[in-house]
Amino acid sequence: MTRFAVVNPATEETIVEIEEAGVEEADEAVARAKAAFPTWRALPPSERARLLRNVAALVEEHADELARIESENVGKPISGARAEVAMVAEVFHFYAGAVDKHYGETIPVAGGVDMTFREPLGVVGLIVPWNFPLNIASWKLGPALACGNTVVLKPAELTPLSALRLQELMGEAGIPEGVVNVLAGKGSVVGQRLVEHPDVAKIGFTGSTEIGREVMKGAAQTIKRVTLELGGKSANVIFEDADLEQAARAAPYAVFDNAGQDCCARSRIFVQRSIYDRFLELLISATDGMKVGDPRDQETEMGPLISAEHRERVSSYVDGNVAFRGNAPHGPGFWFPCTLVEASNDDRIAREEVFGPVAAVIPFEDEAEVVELANATPFGLSGSIWTRDGARALRVARGIESGVLSVNSNSSVRPTTPFGGFKQSGFGRELGMHALEGYSEVKNVYFSTD
Ligand code: NDP
Repeated sequence: MTRFAVVNPATEETIVEIEEAGVEEADEAVARAKAAFPTWRALPPSERARLLRNVAALVEEHADELARIESENVGKPISGARAEVAMVAEVFHFYAGAVDKHYGETIPVAGGVDMTFREPLGVVGLIVPWNFPLNIASWKLGPALACGNTVVLKPAELTPLSALRLQELMGEAGIPEGVVNVLAGKGSVVGQRLVEHPDVAKIGFTGSTEIGREVMKGAAQTIKRVTLELGGKSANVIFEDADLEQAARAAPYAVFDNAGQDCCARSRIFVQRSIYDRFLELLISATDGMKVGDPRDQETEMGPLISAEHRERVSSYVDGNVAFRGNAPHGPGFWFPCTLVEASNDDRIAREEVFGPVAAVIPFEDEAEVVELANATPFGLSGSIWTRDGARALRVARGIESGVLSVNSNSSVRPTTPFGGFKQSGFGRELGMHALEGYSEVKNVYFSTD
């Protein structure tokens, strides 16, 4: 097997070299998962739940280690990495509790009894990106395993380390051999093989809309189920009656968190014209306060981008009316400063997902116009609305075509609530009880009593 280097984006140094899986390893992993499926699905629900609780407990026990791995591999601030690992444990706790709460029904029919069962799908392929590697893996592993499926998980080639460590912890937790198989390899090789493999029943994918389209096409060949969590270009809507100080303090975190490499980034900041100048001033001052630097420092709020290539792409978006450009370290590391650009909703920066610390600030006149502007995008993942008028908040939340919205908050994901996109941000829901729908089939059995 060939080896590849895993790099720390804050230092550009190699953390470790690991073996690269290819098509052969993918086929072997699918075969192992297929062999483990009958036993795993037949476990008593209480036993499957107990094993998932063990996983949650081991993640908690190893929280510092996992956060350090994630921070080093992705370049994310250690405080953020700790919060993500805490969520991973919560997700496994939630799905341990869900194992015996997702069941069928009996339906009134003539001449017998009709009942439904929730059946697992079999082997599922999970493909995750590099921005929240462990978190997003857990959102898929939790419901997939709770429903009785076995899995092959492919982390992004840039960030495989936390998933590989999680696989070891799952073994220690008592998850039987073959139930969870992690493969570090290229998307175009291992990912594509999983998409095409006849023994893989479903692909749970998070990544770009472009690759999501390829996954959907490839899955059509074997009529695979797919869940797609794709890109976004979310709106942060600031009305004139909002608590402007609070909204301005929150806005930088809504877009620069994880250095903007966040599908939920509210990267279009819509500001009502009557308060535009005042809000921009507050926003610049709050953005200026972001602490950018060494991810190991407890105080750091933003680290580097994932790679030199990605930095190149992000910088191609900054050619317009720059209202603010912050500081970022020089020297090794793929650094990029927090950047605010005054824009129109038609500019490239407002149309395409930048996936970096760059936000477009756009004025609007009234409620009707901002709903139209927010919806003038092929994406529909997330968004925020800042106002003191509750009725308006709900009207706008109902009007925006997006899977997840928050009022007077940046919040997007919680273990217990559904997460996913409208339009070209994908389909299917992760997290909460809704995710179980994507990892099970409904079977209907009619039992004649005549
Ligand atoms: P990509 O779509 O490039 O990659 C996502 C995953 O797909 C990686 O594991 C990648 O492997 C794999 N992959 C690449 N090519 C193929 C293929 N032909 N067949 C199967 N799998 C493949 O996205 P990024 O990793 O660059 O992540 C950034 C994107 O993800 C952003 O656009 C962002 O919006 C989106 N995203 C969406 C989220 C959501 O929930 N909606 C959450 C987080 C990110 P490898 O990298 O190893 O080649």
